[in-house]
Amino acid sequence: MQHRSYPTRPGTPAPAVPPFALHLLHGVWVASCPDCGHELGRSRDQEAAERAGERRRCPICQPTHQHAQGVA
Ligand SMILES: [Zn+2]
Repeated sequence: MQHRSYPTRPGTPAPAVPPFALHLLHGVWVASCPDCGHELGRSRDQEAAERAGERRRCPICQPTHQHAQGVA
């Protein structure tokens, strides 16, 4: 029996809005998950914080598939 290695999804999720929230706290830009508020990255540079928010995904709301679990 074979099973698909990659679950196919209808269309590619490409939201216009960035998948993170950006806040300026005490002069430091903090990129966090807009849903649960999990911090994705922070920097004194707004662009750097945005890049951190774009590169990282919330491990709680959007778990990555980098580490396969339970696959023997
Ligand atoms: Zn989240």
